[in-house]
Amino acid sequence: MAELSKNARAGSGTEKFYCSCGGEIKMKTIFTNGKLRTVAECQQCHRIERRPRDFR
Ligand SMILES: [Zn+2]
Repeated sequence: MAELSKNARAGSGTEKFYCSCGGEIKMKTIFTNGKLRTVAECQQCHRIERRPRDFR
């Protein structure tokens, strides 16, 4: 995966977000009210927000 390491060095592309509990935020697609939604979920406390930035 040469492209992954290139992105990491450039500091762009995949940004990592962390919850206030210290858990890592992962994007997740859920089906709710008849719609598909992409939400951000903390892997540690399972808090769900609409965007990764909302955890700050
Ligand atoms: Zn959390």
